[in-house]
Amino acid sequence: MQKQMKCVVFHGKQDERVEYRDIPEPQEGEVLIKVMACGICGSDVHIYEGDQGSAAAVPPLIQGHEFAGIVDRLGKDVTSCRVGDRVVADPANNCEECFYCEAGLMSHCDHMEAIGTTRDGGFAQYCTVPARLIHHIEDSVSFQEAAMAEPLACCINGADRSDIELGDDVVIYGGGPIGLLHLQLALMKGAARVAVVEPVEEKRAMATKLGAYCTINPVKDKVQKVLQDNGIYHVKTVIETCGRKETSEEAIEIVDKHGTVIYFAVTGVNATMDLKTYMVFQKELSIKGSYCSPYGMERATHMINAHRIDVTTMVSDAIPLEELESVLKDPKKRATGKYIVLPNGESD
Ligand SMILES: [Zn+2]
Ligand SMILES: [Zn+2]
Repeated sequence: MQKQMKCVVFHGKQDERVEYRDIPEPQEGEVLIKVMACGICGSDVHIYEGDQGSAAAVPPLIQGHEFAGIVDRLGKDVTSCRVGDRVVADPANNCEECFYCEAGLMSHCDHMEAIGTTRDGGFAQYCTVPARLIHHIEDSVSFQEAAMAEPLACCINGADRSDIELGDDVVIYGGGPIGLLHLQLALMKGAARVAVVEPVEEKRAMATKLGAYCTINPVKDKVQKVLQDNGIYHVKTVIETCGRKETSEEAIEIVDKHGTVIYFAVTGVNATMDLKTYMVFQKELSIKGSYCSPYGMERATHMINAHRIDVTTMVSDAIPLEELESVLKDPKKRATGKYIVLPNGESD
């Protein structure tokens, strides 16, 4: 029986190493998962660059929080799944007891343990997780599709926090994997027209394929003007997924009176923007954040199991563990779309 596993360990800023470690033992209430696919997230890049992801990461750490795989072993007292089950795991292990957990605000748990951020995650052949965080996937769903459940769950939280209603017009800044999930969710919520602002041509093409009413290249054109050229005068909701100062500020300008701006991107911890407070006052704007998602994982799994959302168009490549760092350090590579790591070789 295999005793050791290959993994990639974060040792500090811009220092990821391929290593071999003992396969971890599932503790009471935990399962051991053979990781078949694990997505690379923007927050993994923040950690790699020495900043912070969704939480502070302390090296040495195996990152990776967007993973799908096969239950390989059960810890004591696990009854919710069996060896061989195909699953995804919610990386947010909240305490269920603190003030916020009691209030149903699990994202804000005072004792949050985040798999792949504060405890070892899925950039490894095996990973242990509490069994209560497991969701089952259908045989018709590939592991690479299933690995999109976590980012989709986060987007569901953002969509929940938006006020999109039937017939609304929506603008999304960013045509990356997250922006393209938001595009589809906005349409499902009943948005009439969704415009996607994105400088990369291939990503604009993906947005068009996934139902964008129009796309805007902000390097070439003024966003407001293109919207008006397309007959869009009242943008009810703006979702900002780039985390850039200019786009964060422009979102406030282009949103309609009484509209909502969702700041979805993980920015640098000390990132700031200039906020025209008069505009917030006069337009009666709602400005909201959206932070991870223990509330969306069940629904995300349902949507992927039912093949109700396209989670493959935005995937640009699947790579072995050895190539993880080459993606983390190369923004040009990441600009082409989502990368998924296959720790155990070809997954499906
Ligand atoms: Zn993520
Ligand atoms: Zn808690």
